[in-house]
Amino acid sequence: MALVLQDTLTGDRQEFQPLEPGRVRMYTCGPTVWSHPHVGNYRAFLFYDLVRRHLELHGYEVEHVLNVTDVDDRIIEQAARAGVSIRDYTRPYEEAFFQELCRLRARRPHHTPRATEHVGDMVRLISRLLEGGHAYQAPDGVYFRVESFPAYGALSHLDRAGLRAGARVATDKYEKQSASDFALWKRAQPEDERVGAAWDAPFGRGRPGWHIECSAMAMRYLGPTLDLHLGGVDLLFPHHENEIAQSEAATGRTFVRYWLHSEHLLDPLGEEMHKSVGNVVTMRELLSRHQPAAVRLYLLGSAHYRSKLRLSEEGLHGAAEQVRRLRDLAGRLRQVRGLRSDDAALMEDALDTRDAYLAALDDDLNLPAGLGHVFELVRQANAALDRGQVGPAAREALLSVLETVDRHLDVLSEEEAELPEELLAMIAERDRARQRRDFATADRLRAQLRERGVVLEDTPDGVRWRVVGV
Ligand SMILES: [Zn+2]
Repeated sequence: MALVLQDTLTGDRQEFQPLEPGRVRMYTCGPTVWSHPHVGNYRAFLFYDLVRRHLELHGYEVEHVLNVTDVDDRIIEQAARAGVSIRDYTRPYEEAFFQELCRLRARRPHHTPRATEHVGDMVRLISRLLEGGHAYQAPDGVYFRVESFPAYGALSHLDRAGLRAGARVATDKYEKQSASDFALWKRAQPEDERVGAAWDAPFGRGRPGWHIECSAMAMRYLGPTLDLHLGGVDLLFPHHENEIAQSEAATGRTFVRYWLHSEHLLDPLGEEMHKSVGNVVTMRELLSRHQPAAVRLYLLGSAHYRSKLRLSEEGLHGAAEQVRRLRDLAGRLRQVRGLRSDDAALMEDALDTRDAYLAALDDDLNLPAGLGHVFELVRQANAALDRGQVGPAAREALLSVLETVDRHLDVLSEEEAELPEELLAMIAERDRARQRRDFATADRLRAQLRERGVVLEDTPDGVRWRVVGV
């Protein structure tokens, strides 16, 4: 089935086709590690995970890059205040971020480059822009000349003349030629030197601007053209607009083939979350009150990614209840023994639900619509179990629906489950059977493991297992 995505640049729904068959190059804007990221940022980070998992379910080999911004104005200011280097200041936040991502069961991106470790790539890119006349030097740094890139504004659908006139007020602060020009490189200040945030470059010692980071690191790992670029809608302008301008001005090639943006998570009163307003909720705080699986399901499944979502305690409790219902059903189904009369209608419904669920995901990743179908089936399945009308075929079909849903949700297994030695030995034995191409034995072991509540998934990195319900 074809995957259809709503691309921000064209504003159209398009069938997804990667540049290279079978392989997807995906870049996602990561955290700025100056403090603990708030829940709103995680809505985007989990959305990245959903997209990746769905592409993998389609059989694509996804190469996923997520950058870590470990140098910017706020980081320098905070590090200077604390009297430490930016490296020492940012590392604990970076570590906390990846731990939270792991607790929320987001797959770790294949590359997680730090900006400070790719300054060379940024310097080369800026040099190229200077040579091409797309950038110029000013006393306080190097700027991108927006005038030199006629397509500027296409992503955010901005009127360029209006942009220039409207932004004139801000020009006094900077030594740039036009208000919409943006910094690629900022000349080093004494404070930058003190906290280790200054690098040598042919155009003067300094540090990179934020936008150039993403262009340089995306192209370093994925080449000049990416299949997918994802981010929160707050990054659309100017960040992503600037990424396009820098990258395409340098290479003359299309930078991104499909842009996807996830909407804001609003505070409980319906306002956007901002540190300056003081209404942000950190993930750290949320995870101290709610189980990670519920938070994950809430952020991914409560609203379509292009709709705003209002953070609410009822919503989080509702998600916890949904996790419980999925786990309970998986447990009940596995306990069906001595299989009774089969319910053909239920089996049929299960197969239809699986199709409807996948069709919803293929329709611009409409997970909430897909889950609507699934929870209707959960209700029917429980009723049939109460009546003793779940036979082997219906049971298999229902378990297969739950397994499919869990490829995206990853909430069925209990938190931090440990497997007994005996089960680990069975997994290893199955692995050996597969290696010697004894698929009959491998399949038999897989079925036995599933009876015991262990679901196996073969990935390019080897076999992964999950404990389902029980
Ligand atoms: Zn970015």
